[in-house]
Amino acid sequence: MATKKMTSKKAEKAEKAEKAAKVEKAVKAEKKAAAAPKKVKAVKAPKSAKPAPADQAYVPAPEVAAILPDLIALRHDLHQHPERGFDTAGTRMRVAKWLSDHGVTAIENETLESALFVTVEGNRPGPTIALRADMDALPMTDASGTPYASQTPGCAHTCGHDGHTTWLAGALAALHAKNDFPGRVLGIFQPAEEIGTGAMAVVKAGALRKYDVREIYGMHAEPSVDAGKMGFKVGPMQAAADFFYVTIEGKGGHGARPQMAVDPIPCGAELVGALQTVVTRRIDPTQPVVISVCSFVAGSTPACNVIPAKAELSGTVRTFDAETRKKVRAEMAKTVKAVAEAHGCVGSLRIEDFGNPVINHPETTAFARAAADELYGEGTGVDFPLTMGGEDFSEYQAVVPGTMIRFGVRDAKHQASLHHPKFDFNDGVLGGAATFLAETVRKRLAMLAD
Ligand SMILES: [Zn+2]
Ligand SMILES: [Zn+2]
Repeated sequence: MATKKMTSKKAEKAEKAEKAAKVEKAVKAEKKAAAAPKKVKAVKAPKSAKPAPADQAYVPAPEVAAILPDLIALRHDLHQHPERGFDTAGTRMRVAKWLSDHGVTAIENETLESALFVTVEGNRPGPTIALRADMDALPMTDASGTPYASQTPGCAHTCGHDGHTTWLAGALAALHAKNDFPGRVLGIFQPAEEIGTGAMAVVKAGALRKYDVREIYGMHAEPSVDAGKMGFKVGPMQAAADFFYVTIEGKGGHGARPQMAVDPIPCGAELVGALQTVVTRRIDPTQPVVISVCSFVAGSTPACNVIPAKAELSGTVRTFDAETRKKVRAEMAKTVKAVAEAHGCVGSLRIEDFGNPVINHPETTAFARAAADELYGEGTGVDFPLTMGGEDFSEYQAVVPGTMIRFGVRDAKHQASLHHPKFDFNDGVLGGAATFLAETVRKRLAMLAD
């Protein structure tokens, strides 16, 4: 008993001594810290581990090679801090800071608050060419497993817009470092491409008019094309993308007495199939059309004996040709109404315009492809097929001639498709992409000014 008491007292004493030592140590450390000159802790800007040029799919121009580590750091910083839609304040701040740190200071967002408009003047007069990058991310989880993975839950750069923003920043810095071109380059960093309304907002704000833009070029990371190649297509390349919403109103009731209700579920189920016959039976088969029902909401799981009063379907329609687009809409509306009526329901259809098709101008596209081959060797430019994916770059092309380029990013480490949770932009093309943009716009401005 006595021994036990002694032991607990001893332990108490030892604990006290340990505590005192700890406090003393802490005070000493604090004093030392106060005496030492204060170091300003940099805001977490992830530094790239090793931007080894050997990882690069292209040999960048010297003025791009000089800033390549900074470019990779910017890309990782953006990847870590994704933003969606028009909420681009953090991204704008990061890009504007990076640009001004690299000497590019003509930056404004008065034309449209959620965008950045950056101008680099050449050393003699000439026209203006715009280069566009989209800045927004997607509402999904980042499963890239990289040290710079998204720090924002449920938001990720899985479409590579962090890369687009970075290659444009790099091109502008390179053009600023070597401004031996006539005219002016306008960098447009736009918001909200994924929700299809960012480019329209830029156009409606009057940016193309304000800067007197003659032509526009944009590039998208493309995991179906090898790093070191660029996909080009003259004419239609990406589809007009519309969203649709169907509401079917019936009459709710008991699951055991369907005859006393008007069940919207079988009506909706039939509509899913019937809408496909719009594509296969009523539209010219030589015209590409996709109708996808992507959601079907009716009733609720625990209410297994309740017929709901309403069913809702939503999805997307993709087309290229303007007449076909109109016809598909009319046929869909007819189908919704008729099928609903046949079931004793009331059906309605609402279609939301998402964007026009991307149609690449023959002249700007041929020029950009030739520039790619000249810069990186014959065969760098490859044919890119029609795709039903939408892209709001089309809104610029509706105003000025322009070209969308699908920039290859695929290699052994980069195989995931766009919008896949594991997709991560390939830093190995950054130097090449920035060089290509800068060189192409330099050459094109010289040609237009002659
Ligand atoms: Zn996307
Ligand atoms: Zn995208």
